[in-house]
Amino acid sequence: MSKKIHGFYDSVLESFDKAAVHTGLPKGLLEQIKLCNAVYRINFPVKIGNKIEVVEAYRVQHSNHRNPTKGGIRYSSHVNQEEVMALATLMTYKCAIVDVPFGGAKGGVKINPWKYSEDELERITRRYTVELIKKNFIGPGRDVPAPDYGTGSREMAWILDTYQTFANGELDSAGCVTGKPVNQNGIRGRTEATGRGVYYGIKEFFEHKDLVSAIGLEPGIAGKTMVIQGLGNVGSYTGSISQHEGDVKVISVSEREGAIYKEDGIDIEKLLKVRKSTGSILNYPGAKKLKTREEALELKCDILVPAALENQIHVGNAKNIKAKVIAEAANGPVTSRAEKILLKKGVVILPDMYLNAGGVTVSYFEWLKNLSHMRFGRMEKRFDHNTYLNLVGITERLTGKSVNDKEKAFLTRGADEIDLVRSGLEETMISSFQQIKEVYKRKRKITDLRTAAFVTAINKISNDYNSLGVFP
Ligand code: GLU
Repeated sequence: MSKKIHGFYDSVLESFDKAAVHTGLPKGLLEQIKLCNAVYRINFPVKIGNKIEVVEAYRVQHSNHRNPTKGGIRYSSHVNQEEVMALATLMTYKCAIVDVPFGGAKGGVKINPWKYSEDELERITRRYTVELIKKNFIGPGRDVPAPDYGTGSREMAWILDTYQTFANGELDSAGCVTGKPVNQNGIRGRTEATGRGVYYGIKEFFEHKDLVSAIGLEPGIAGKTMVIQGLGNVGSYTGSISQHEGDVKVISVSEREGAIYKEDGIDIEKLLKVRKSTGSILNYPGAKKLKTREEALELKCDILVPAALENQIHVGNAKNIKAKVIAEAANGPVTSRAEKILLKKGVVILPDMYLNAGGVTVSYFEWLKNLSHMRFGRMEKRFDHNTYLNLVGITERLTGKSVNDKEKAFLTRGADEIDLVRSGLEETMISSFQQIKEVYKRKRKITDLRTAAFVTAINKISNDYNSLGVFP
């Protein structure tokens, strides 16, 4: 008899159970917070060339304790029901941790998106959207998809257009999906949001002397070494923002084609250009090519950023990890069994449900923008500018001194949409970390940040259930 493989969904459930015992909540309520509310599995036909292909797809709504439900859509040949369930489950806790008023959901389409033409992808996306509409699995107040692995703003624009074709005249229809192009009801700063949030989260961790000195490091992110697995949207923004704004040194990057190492640092923007023009990161000038891409994960470094898919750090390689901090930019990159080994070794894991929540946080801002039908900053930018201008003028008059034009421009600027999105995201990542740390410090029996994050999320969700009185 074949033994069931311990998979991603098992890992998520196991971590939930480990945390649940610290909440003291009744079993039934915990069960409701743990399990998926609705799983929609679809097979639909799409015409590819002159043949018909049947595509397997999913949308899972994990929790309706708040509505709409929210989460990305993944295009990958590895998609399966348990994976989508695991990802939807994580979305619920992610939203709770960053105080975004949504339940969790996730979608998956089992295709290799790199094998199809743009036209074919458009047909698949539009048909998938129609299937969601038919069963009420999409809508600004029901369930709001977003990009994930293998999808981006282009797919979101197709989803929006398909939805609007059917929802003729629905005032808030633009809020049916987030991660849209900026000129099609999107928001500035959404594309970089997950990576930027990862950076703010790592930076915040390094501000806490008690946590940082426990792993033998000095506080402050500047000068820390980083290894990145995956140069997709999340990995590349995490790397470049960490370099430019945090003065971090990226010493190794791994991708599908292999891994490179450069002791004095790899410039991520330059690496992206090299990959675009030559098709491989291995052509980065001056870098050493590692024998296998897995080797990158085992390098000595301060921060290891798995930014690809789940289950990358498992019982097979956990004991070889030399990083001091694992920053989970991807969802579920460390299995629950590997985690046990790593925690014993004293490795700090910054958990996915907190660390990569920047994407959904800015999705929330986008959704609010869509519902308000107005760009952030539109009402106050000019007013703020004029107020600051008056302040500077009065100060100049009273002191008899004057500031130069450059200083004046800096001091009197009113915030644009991008400024507000970034500061809203930074504030979210800082305050959420502090909430998790509070639980971590208060409960002596909790010895890792993932468990503290789960407890934080479970408690918030249980409060929602209590205040909503949803149980008949
Ligand atoms: N796919 C992203 C995630 O896993 C973003 C979800 C969203 O913006 O709704 O968090």
